[in-house]
Parts: sequence; structure tokens; C-alpha cells
Amino acid sequence: RPTKKLGQNFVHDPNTVRRIATTAGLTADDVVLEVGPGLGSLTLALLPECASVVAVEIDPVLAARLPGTVAERAPGFADRLRVVLGDAMRVTGAQIGARPTALVANLPYNVAVPVVLHLLAELPSLRTVLVMVQAEVADRMAAPPGSKVYGVPSVKIAWYAEARRVATVPRAVFWPVPNVDSALVFLTRRPSPDGIDRAAVFAAVDAAFAQRRKTLRAALSDWAGSPSAAEAVLVAAGVDPVLRGEQLSVGDFVRIAQAFTQLQ
Ligand code: SAM
Repeated sequence: RPTKKLGQNFVHDPNTVRRIATTAGLTADDVVLEVGPGLGSLTLALLPECASVVAVEIDPVLAARLPGTVAERAPGFADRLRVVLGDAMRVTGAQIGARPTALVANLPYNVAVPVVLHLLAELPSLRTVLVMVQAEVADRMAAPPGSKVYGVPSVKIAWYAEARRVATVPRAVFWPVPNVDSALVFLTRRPSPDGIDRAAVFAAVDAAFAQRRKTLRAALSDWAGSPSAAEAVLVAAGVDPVLRGEQLSVGDFVRIAQAFTQLQ
């Protein structure tokens, strides 16, 4: 019986599974990290397309069952699979063991963005990411500055990668059927800004969006120490203090964090 709390909506439609595996653009050298293999439908489609799959599953019953499923349904590929029982939001590079080059997953919806952000930070070897998420979350992940749904996830994802929403997937392909449609998002890792402290940038982003409707001068005043300190940081960064967070690119936030460090 699927557990709602763990976001267990399984894909039973073979065309969707094939489409995810194809869209991931894998080569025979890729080491794939799959989060939440569940009953293994996507795992079975990924195994023939790459060198190996490391599957991280939090549900002990499903994790224990996966090797048997693969041995039975795809015996020739069974030795390519490694299952890690654990929480993808906390899993470490050491637990993964290999150096995965691609993340491919039908993610549990409630934790989709934190999982992707954690894995991009923890596993620098990841070059591409193809994830199925709630359509609305896909829009947010790929939103450009100034768009209606641009927010914290958009900026933080943009720190690591270029994001594209590549396809919509109707809710009917899942069991049980969720309340919303899904979408595929493809991320291509790009070099993160050199010598810049990610935590400092993300702190500025969190502060700017915590009070969405305020100008940056007001929204960043607690973070900078005072409204005038916030204004000084923004001016030094070349950012107009009466703009709002949703108008800034990740590059603007990098300059704000740099100016903050320099003015301290
Ligand atoms: N890949 C399967 C498919 O497409 O049918 C299952 C996808 S289902 C949306 C999400 C899966 O992620 C479930 O198997 C669930 O147990 C697992 N899961 C939920 N939270 C997790 C976490 N924090 N870490 C790892 N796996 C998790």
C-alpha cells in the first residue's frame, strides 16, 4: 500500500517511463543516481542506458525488494544496480560510493526542491538532472527573474544549473492518481561563481524573499543590520534599493553578498 507521506505515486505507464529514460540523454559511461526507485519501473528503464545505477530509497520494504525485482525482470543488468537505504535529503557522497554523473528521478513531491538542492551541493560530479515534479514546482524551478512564480527555488537552482521545463506529464500515468499534473525539468550544471560563499548568497536570497512585497532596502534591513546598511550594500552592489527580490538574478544576489562581506 503506497504511503502518502513519502510521496509514493508510482508510474505504471510504460511510455512515460521510457520517455523519462530517453529524455535524460544518458550515455554508456553515465553513473546514474535515482532517488526513490519505489517499485522499480524507472530503474528498469535506466539500467540498459548507462554504466550503473545507485538507487536511494527511504522505504525499507521497497529498498529490500528492488534487487529481486531487477534480478527477475532484467537479470542481465542486475549487477549494475546498487541500492542505498536512506534519506535523499541527507545522503552523503560517501554513502553513495560512486561518483554519479546524472540524477534521474520521479521525486517525492513534498521534498522535491530540497532533495535536488542537497544533491547538487553534495555531489559535484552530477552534470545533469532530469526530475519529474509537480507541474507548479517545475515552473518555479525554471522561472526567469521577473516572472510571477520566480522565487527562492528559482534562484537557488540557478546558482547550480541552467533549468528547462521539458514536458508535461498528465496525472493519469500515476498510481494512485495525484491531484495535480507533473512536469519534467532538465538541469545542466554550470560552474558556480568562483570564490563566492554559497551560504552568504543563499542567506541574502532567503532574506529578500521572506518579505516578498517589500523593496529590497526594507526586506534586507534585518539581514544587513539596518535600513541604511541595506541601502549601502545595495548601492555598492549596483542594485537599485527600491527593486524587489523577484526582479533580481542570481548574479545580482552574488554581487549583494560580495558587497555585504566587503562593507563589514
Ligand atoms: N520511481 C518510482 C516510480 O516512478 O514509480 C517511485 C516514485 S514515488 C513519486 C517517490 C519515491 O521516493 C517512493 O518510492 C518513496 O518511498 C521515495 N522517497 C520518499 N521520500 C524519500 C527520501 N527522502 N529519500 C529517498 N526516497 C524517498
